Amino acid sequence: MTHVSENCMTLMDNLLNLYRVDMQVRGLRSRLESAERYLKAQNKLFDDLTAQRDELVSRKKQLQATIANLESEIASIDQKLEKFRGDLNASSTSKQYNAVLTELNTVKLERSKTEDRMIEEMERVEQIDKDIASLEAQLIERQKVRDHAERELAEKRTEIGERLAELERERAEAASAVPASELEVFDKLADDYEGEAMANIEVIDKRRREYACGACNIHLPFEQISVLKGRSDTLVRCTACRRILYMQDETRESLAKK
Ligand SMILES: [Zn+2]
Repeated sequence: MTHVSENCMTLMDNLLNLYRVDMQVRGLRSRLESAERYLKAQNKLFDDLTAQRDELVSRKKQLQATIANLESEIASIDQKLEKFRGDLNASSTSKQYNAVLTELNTVKLERSKTEDRMIEEMERVEQIDKDIASLEAQLIERQKVRDHAERELAEKRTEIGERLAELERERAEAASAVPASELEVFDKLADDYEGEAMANIEVIDKRRREYACGACNIHLPFEQISVLKGRSDTLVRCTACRRILYMQDETRESLAKK
């Protein structure tokens, strides 16, 4: 930027300068942001898998506790069975014998049911072990992708960082040349339109005085064109999209010719 001409720069010149630098800043930032978004997505995938794995590990612990309970249940059933077998041998009447035998068979049935439950739980643990192993394998792969994304972002930061800082300083300087109220309008539009805060005027039909907004294509009233042609220091905005309008030099020259 030549500082000699700064004094005679119009509001429009300053806005166009800001527009240009702002677009460059946004372009570089978006390159960084896409690398950041990618890393964030990779982190999320990794964290989701980790959470799934952790949930399975804690379910496995619960199942193992259940299995331990069933094991001790079976042990106490076995003690009962042993006692009943002793009673059987010691029974003196067939009535007594049959009574003990009935009880023994009931407890035996209970033992077999408990054992079935335990085997079921053990099979569940086996399946969970398989699922955990598969998740662990996926985690190793995810980790690789994530590390790669992390390196890429770091590289981009060094590559772009310096240039971006330089442009951000340039942008601040360009912004300081624009009055506060106009700057507010510009910033709001630039945020709404991803940097495209301004639009040039397009000549549709010069003879019929038809002009349009270069961004949204709506036809513009001729009064707006006259104001812009006069290099006035008032903002002229598109009636539809509200972008700040500007006139390219060739359009201005062509309008000057009768
Ligand atoms: Zn428009």
